[in-house]
Amino acid sequence: MIIFKTARDLSAWLSAAAADGQSTGFVPTMGALHEGHLSLVRQSRAANGRTVCSIFVNPTQFNNADDFSNYPVTIEKDIELLLGAGCDALFLPSVQEVYPPEHVKKHYALGPVETVLEGAFRPGHFQGVCEVVERLLDIVAPQRLYLGQKDFQQCMVLQKLLALTSKNAHTDLIIAPTLREADGLAMSSRNLRLSDDERKGSIAIFQNLDRIRLAFGTKDSRELEAEAKSDLEGKGFRVDYIAICEPATLLPKTDGRRPAVVLAAAYLGPVRLIDNLVLS
Ligand code: AMP
Repeated sequence: MIIFKTARDLSAWLSAAAADGQSTGFVPTMGALHEGHLSLVRQSRAANGRTVCSIFVNPTQFNNADDFSNYPVTIEKDIELLLGAGCDALFLPSVQEVYPPEHVKKHYALGPVETVLEGAFRPGHFQGVCEVVERLLDIVAPQRLYLGQKDFQQCMVLQKLLALTSKNAHTDLIIAPTLREADGLAMSSRNLRLSDDERKGSIAIFQNLDRIRLAFGTKDSRELEAEAKSDLEGKGFRVDYIAICEPATLLPKTDGRRPAVVLAAAYLGPVRLIDNLVLS
């Protein structure tokens, strides 16, 4: 695996490599890698001649300074894991490299998907996500972009980004299933920040999503949401939302018909956890 710190070196390597006619798969991450990330790398490897992974904790997508400064960094271990997963190139840029002085901030017209759920609780978050992903896509120009369903709304936003920038003409979005711990907790870099007790309690998010999955259609969706919220609050969570939505728009689901998606975000101690299940 080659590690690149500059966009110029990575682009030069990719241009030379393109002579073999094989495709490039790209897995953008913020590091503190776990099996969920590695599953994306493996999926990319299976379908592409080359796989590029990036690790960059993007300051412009954090709307909370503490969350940014406490974001886990485990770079040595990440490199080992990527080597083991067969990643070909790792892009490890500095903030100056991603946002050079000539970088101009844009506004992305993402529509309603930007302002509901995550967007309502993390203002500006998806503009920052689009800013970094557009920049990374300009550098890597992959044929396939791999994202996790764990960040359901982010996948919708980035699908929109691909369309807005016409990058969908040469880059396909591939959405990979959420990898979970044995007890159901969705794997996440932020799980590293949970205390032992919080880690044990954290499974209540998945348990409530799963309960909704089973009960969906037998009861009013707003009632199911309220029950889950009160169960989580009783277990010490501060709930941002737990919402049963239309998968295509993320508007509240008003009938009991599948498909639907149930999404949740809640704090346990200082750590904000998100998860979702598609009810298909
Ligand atoms: P992050 O480093 O959290 O920005 O995540 C990088 C990519 O990995 C995103 O596309 C995430 O959706 C994806 N990802 C994170 N956690 C998981 C998981 N548990 N299973 C599958 N993909 C994941």
